[in-house]
Amino acid sequence: MNVNITQIPAFQQALPVLERIEKHGFQAFFVGGSVRDALIGKDIVDVDIASSATPQDIKTLFKKVIPVGIEHGTVIIRYEGQSYEVTTFRSESGYEDHRHPDKVEFVTDIELDLARRDFTINAMALNRDGRVMDPFEGLQAIKDKKIQAVGDPLERFEEDPLRIMRAIRFSSQLGFHIEKNTSAAILKQGEWLKEIAVERIAVEFEKLFRGEYLIQAVEACKQSGIHRFFPVFKQYPFLFDYAKGITYPLDDFAELISFFVFYHPEVTVDDWVKQWKLSRRLKYNAKAYVEALEQYKLRGLDEWLVYNMPPHLDKGFIRLVGLLFPDMSSGYANKLTSIRKNLVITDRSEIELSAAHLMEMFPDVPKGPWIGELLVSLEKKVVSMELANDYNEIKEWVQAWNPPGKD
Ligand code: ATP
Ligand code: MG
Repeated sequence: MNVNITQIPAFQQALPVLERIEKHGFQAFFVGGSVRDALIGKDIVDVDIASSATPQDIKTLFKKVIPVGIEHGTVIIRYEGQSYEVTTFRSESGYEDHRHPDKVEFVTDIELDLARRDFTINAMALNRDGRVMDPFEGLQAIKDKKIQAVGDPLERFEEDPLRIMRAIRFSSQLGFHIEKNTSAAILKQGEWLKEIAVERIAVEFEKLFRGEYLIQAVEACKQSGIHRFFPVFKQYPFLFDYAKGITYPLDDFAELISFFVFYHPEVTVDDWVKQWKLSRRLKYNAKAYVEALEQYKLRGLDEWLVYNMPPHLDKGFIRLVGLLFPDMSSGYANKLTSIRKNLVITDRSEIELSAAHLMEMFPDVPKGPWIGELLVSLEKKVVSMELANDYNEIKEWVQAWNPPGKD
């Protein structure tokens, strides 16, 4: 089987990298996800390279080489604005939370390198002439739309139980089914996932829910029971049933968390973030979604909701409303865009009357919480367009209706 590399821009662009490595007497191949996706006809994300050259060799061949995992034989080459991960042929990878001690054995043969890869669809290599090396019948697996472990699935899952998650995540991205023996091994030994670092599971979990075929993948988690080994779900397995309501892909953990928190607020955003060891940024975003969804439930879409939600969350919010409020979601995407565009202010500092003005207006009233409280009511009035953002008008409103100490 041959691939016409000139027709695949990502490979065409990376070709000089292969050529330079080979000119110096080493072997080099495109490998992994890029080969799989090219053969399926999907867009390629990253082009990864496997080579007989060691990281030291690579360093002498390219100007910009970033060491990312020298002990595992991995470096990143920056070349013409692109990054390429180059990994030395090896027969077994070391995983931090592996049962056995880390060990990496470098080998001279691409076939041995392919043999350590997880699934047959991921165990193909492409040389610079476009010839496909396919010792494990990955091409046939693509035709059959199946995810099959390279070699004995139980052994492969024991080496690195994360592969259990990866199998299901690839089925979500590609819509492939999981081959019988591979699937039986997942059913039998899903609990090996207990050994895996939360952070690694989180990466796959997020990708799973971003996959086009997530419905079948969610079903596979449930059927095999592996959801019981995920953070949060291990204490609250019933929560996973709500995942069936995610009928189209969600983009990130913040969206996922707020989806589950909406149904089951007893497990809070803080709990989720702590147990899944997520970032502060995700926590911030998840909290903003939860707040906006609560407001939406009470009042639908209005200026105050949109104003309080950071604009970068608009798309995620639209996805969430579509899932959580199927009956009250028609036209809301356009409405959100239009409200966002017409907001009178985007930040409290834009209100024409400030805290300093308030103190000037009421020199005899001691400073206190009244200032903050008044500013919030002003903010609400201005955002909801019940009061123009005009110094004099606001001043009048304060004097007439809201002077401090009134109550
Ligand atoms: P993606 O499109 O998500 O990047 P990918 O197949 O490229 O998918 P990566 O995690 O980037 O996945 O890994 C690149 C390649 O390395 C895989 O295609 C596979 O051959 C190999 N690989 C990655 N993780 C493992 C693992 N846990 N066990 C065995 N091989 C793995
Ligand atoms: Mg990849």
